[in-house]
Order: sequence, then structure tokens, then C-alpha cells
Amino acid sequence: MQKTEALYQKDASLQTHETTISSITPVSDLPQDLQTLFKTLESGQPYVVTTPQTIFHAQGGGQPTDTGSIILSHSGEEAVFKVHQVRKADPAILHMGTFTPADSTLKIGQEVKQVVDWGSRVLNSRLHTAGHVLGLAIRSLSRTGVLPADLKEVKASHYPGAAFVEFQGLIAGDKKSAMQEKVDELVRQDLDVTIHFWSEEEAKERCAVVLEGVKGGEEGVRVVEVGGLGSYPCGGTHVQRLRELGRVVVRNVKRQKGISKVSYEVVEA
Ligand SMILES: [Zn+2]
Repeated sequence: MQKTEALYQKDASLQTHETTISSITPVSDLPQDLQTLFKTLESGQPYVVTTPQTIFHAQGGGQPTDTGSIILSHSGEEAVFKVHQVRKADPAILHMGTFTPADSTLKIGQEVKQVVDWGSRVLNSRLHTAGHVLGLAIRSLSRTGVLPADLKEVKASHYPGAAFVEFQGLIAGDKKSAMQEKVDELVRQDLDVTIHFWSEEEAKERCAVVLEGVKGGEEGVRVVEVGGLGSYPCGGTHVQRLRELGRVVVRNVKRQKGISKVSYEVVEA
């Protein structure tokens, strides 16, 4: 399949974008391995639409899919293609959804406008960035002796209502307030969040955590850096400054089999 350029990785502020249709395929006509990327819809005939570029975040790296619509550029008509699930199928990014009305369609080569559901994107970017901030806060407390020195970040997920970071090593439940204070301090500093493209070597050397198999694209490894505090290899979307997070609330610490799971959420400041 034709390559899709992930514009959201360069500029996460794009809410709409004009592009063209590369392909339209009923999900049932896709190869089996691609069909299994998608959850079955409760209703409607599902199609996959591809475009040379996209501003829709594809599910992955602990961040949920963007949703939204793809509409004809030069028409006053309502949304034509409702985007329900976006998935990576290297080198393409697949937009799965349904046409409204059901008998409408788009044509290959047609100029269209992508529109991302901005409310859920903003929440996902806040939760995602908050996960990095919490990870860096824990790392900082581990360095200064408040938390054990041997903590190692192993996993993170940023889904609304189920966001957490996981560390190998033991974080005692009574350290919740220390983590909360550190996170509050970082947010108060309103640090900036920047994106870099580094060589694999540089990413491995400089990143706080290198989760399984860092792979660079043509431009290198995409890395997100929080105000000089630390960096993570990351393909997701983030806020630009930590004030945008509102308040990051450390919810709970659970320990099991040597892993400590710290759950959190973001609320309005
Ligand atoms: Zn990230």
C-alpha cells in the first residue's frame, strides 16, 4: 500500500487538512491480517480510506485512535466519511469508517478535507504528555533518594479512565503525595514540550526510557523532550507546554510481581 505521511508527528496542532483520496476499500476486501487490525463496528458497512498524508493519530504507543471525518473539500455537504478507527499498516495509515449517508462515497483522486474530533484529541494529548511527566517525576525522585534508585520504567498507557505508568521495582503507597508534589512542581514550571528527530544511537543514549525496539524512520527516531528534564522515543501527540495539562492527579499505586503501577488522570486546573 502507498505510504502515508504522518503529519501529526510534525505538527500536532493541525485540526483540519486538505489532501486527496488514494484508495477506498471495503474492510471485507482487505487481506485478513489487515482486517484483524480493526474492531467490528456495531452498524454500517465499514471501509478503509487512505490518503497521501494524514493528521489522524493512528492507535499505538499507548495512545488511542483519533476519530473525525473526511469530507469533500469543495462542497457544503455534511460529513461523508466518518472515521472510527485509525491504524498503522506500514508504510500506510488506514482510516476505517462508514459513509454518511450510507449510499454516498468518495472517489480516488478527489480533494478532501480531514477534520479531527478535537475534544478527544486534546484530552489524549494531555493524558499522553502527563504520562511522560509522571515518568520523569518518578525518575527524578528515584535519583534524589525519595524513591528506590533501581526503578526502571517499563510500560505506559494513556487511555482516558485507564492511564498509568509502570515501573520495575517497588514504589510504596505512601509515596503518592511525594509523586503528586513533584508532578505539580513540573506543571507549575510550565516546561515546554519539544519534538526532535535523533539517530538511533543518540536516542538510546539520551532517552529516559527506551521501550522495545527503537526504530528510526527516514528522518531518524522521533523523540519527545520535556523541558530539558528528559526524553522518550515517541510517536504520539503532546501538548506544547505543561500548563495545558491542567492538573495531573496521581490516583493509585499498585504492586504486583515486582512491578509498580501508578495510575493517573488529568483534570481541569
Ligand atoms: Zn509521547
